[in-house]
Formats: sequence, structure tokens, C-alpha cells
Amino acid sequence: MNFHTIHHCRQCGTSVEHRVPDDGDTKTRAVCPACGTIHYQNPLNVVGTVPHRDDRVLLCKRNIEPRRGFWTLPAGFMELGESTAEGAMRETREEAGAEIELEGLFTLLNVVRVGQVHFYYRARMLSERLDPGPETMEARLFSEDEIPWDEIAFRTVKETLERFFDDRRRGAFGIHAGDLD
Ligand SMILES: [Zn+2]
Repeated sequence: MNFHTIHHCRQCGTSVEHRVPDDGDTKTRAVCPACGTIHYQNPLNVVGTVPHRDDRVLLCKRNIEPRRGFWTLPAGFMELGESTAEGAMRETREEAGAEIELEGLFTLLNVVRVGQVHFYYRARMLSERLDPGPETMEARLFSEDEIPWDEIAFRTVKETLERFFDDRRRGAFGIHAGDLD
């Protein structure tokens, strides 16, 4: 599987070869024939929150591709230098401007096909004040029967929302780990 194809060496710019390195490795890598650099590629972490207040959950309408105009939970790629929890809080601030207090980890979803792992934390909203950033057209709270299920941007978001309302009905929140195709 090639997720993000590398064409040129990041060290010297030479066109790379895609082959199994001679060092006992078993996977095909982008190997530079000039300087010998082997480019390793690993899954990316996506971190986000399920901000909730009373019986409602905060969703953001995406103002960027992919899935512009669809609704999502606040989430994005983790940055170097931050923890998963810090990244989740940062994304919530940037995309919704929501004041939250982070609760427990809620879902851990592998999306092997695209090389991503998604982590969602439950988060209590401390107020209803919102200040969406440029990546968001609109942010608002939805009760379960108001959720626009056909306009949810990503399957990880849909899965996380379904788990959240299921657990809420049961009166106990677990940690849900799973794989999505
Ligand atoms: Zn090179």
C-alpha cells in the first residue's frame, strides 16, 4: 500500500527507488540511491473532542475540504510537541472557540486504509459561548434527535457520536477501541 508517495529524497532531492532496504527490513520504502536515506512513513494521529452540554453535543460545519459543508466534531492532526489531550483541546479552541474541560478518552479508532489513528476525548463545555475559527462555517449544539446523520463528514465522527449517545442512555461512559475500513 502506498499512502503518501514520496518521489524525491528529503535529504538531497534525488529521485528515490521504492524497494525493500538491504538492512533486514521487510517493507517497501522510498530509498535514495544517491545518499542512502530510507524514508519511513508511519500513521498519523487525529485528535479531537466530543464537547457536550446538558443533553447536546457540539458540531462544527466544515469550511474546508475535504467534506466542506458537512458537520464534524472538532478534530485535526496532532502537532509535534503536544500530547493527544493537548492537541484535542487546541483543535476544539481553533475550530469552535469553545471553553471546555477535558474528561476521559472516549474512542480510539484505527483507519488502517488511510494510515490514521483517531482519538476522541469527552469534554464538558463550561459555557455556551462559541467563537468558530476560519475552518468552521458554523458551530452549534445538537440534541441526539437533531443530529444531521446524513451530513456527518467522517465515519470516525459518526461512530463516536453513536457511541456517545448509546453510553449516555446507559448512564456509563466507556472507552471504545475499534477499526474502521
Ligand atoms: Zn538522498
